Amino acid sequence: MSYYKLTVISQACGRLSQMKRDIKKGKNPKSPFVQKPYLVSCYGFKVNGMLLSFPVRNREFANILLNEHTVKILSDQSVTPRSFTMTPQSISISIAKDVEPIQTESAIGVDRNLRNITFGNGKEIIQVNTSEMLKIKENYSHVKSTCTRNDHRIRKKVYGKLGKRQTDRIKQRIHRMSKSLVNYAKKNKAAIIFEDLNGIRKLYQRGNGQGNRYRRKLNSWSHYELERQVSYKAAWDGVPFYKEDPRRTSTLCPICGGGLQGDRQRHRDLWCGICKRWYDRDVVAAMNIACKGLHRFCNPQGDAGEAMRGNLNPAILRVDVSKLVTDWSDACIVQVS
Ligand SMILES: [Zn+2]
Repeated sequence: MSYYKLTVISQACGRLSQMKRDIKKGKNPKSPFVQKPYLVSCYGFKVNGMLLSFPVRNREFANILLNEHTVKILSDQSVTPRSFTMTPQSISISIAKDVEPIQTESAIGVDRNLRNITFGNGKEIIQVNTSEMLKIKENYSHVKSTCTRNDHRIRKKVYGKLGKRQTDRIKQRIHRMSKSLVNYAKKNKAAIIFEDLNGIRKLYQRGNGQGNRYRRKLNSWSHYELERQVSYKAAWDGVPFYKEDPRRTSTLCPICGGGLQGDRQRHRDLWCGICKRWYDRDVVAAMNIACKGLHRFCNPQGDAGEAMRGNLNPAILRVDVSKLVTDWSDACIVQVS
């Protein structure tokens, strides 16, 4: 069918332009090839109830039985199938949906750290403990170090298997977190504000005077995966998603706007000399990001936000990533500690 040729050409062009980009970046890419045959098309196919039918010759169709889950998703009237990708083993159908953006009343700032993700605003802060994910990574790197076979083919195989299992376990937790975050924003009619962490890897390069283990820990920190998942999940639910400059978000007091001071003994806390109290560093960052985002994206007049500043006293909920709820319709089941 001639229109299959069109998609083939566009697929090939995509690979070539990726190669061009790699050359520009100074990499040395191999010439592109396809490992497994596959078929992509956005023309002439149809979903009839439980069947996907696509043309093979003029007026001749082949039918494939879809599974229950796919039929259930596609039966939604607001969803339209746009294209499909077929391999010898699988079919994926990509779908589109028109989304009405929700009317936002507030903003939620998200602060990503090595051991926790903190999100919320002046009213409520939720701190998700993610040290479990760090432990998973440490465990796997320990397991990898016990593989002492002096054969690079076997080592490669073992490492690949372990690495896949590690990414899967971490991804599953990040999915949980992103879903929960988007549902929470939807329930509170809030926009989601992230910090723009572009260029963070440059802070932990070789020769910056940091130890190997420290650099490995910070460079394997998957901060981008959460952002990627939240941005597409938010778009699918009509929740606005913005990125904000992270500068000075953890040096200014979210309540009075004065400067904050750190302390050697309490290095996760900051002292405000005007309010005369200690603040958690991550809570401060999340509140400041929410406040900045609210000013910039949701409330261009700026006065109402300024008036809000004085009476911020957020309730702080601490929860472990494995105990995070994904359905916030009755959020009181969150474990508070
Ligand atoms: Zn203060």
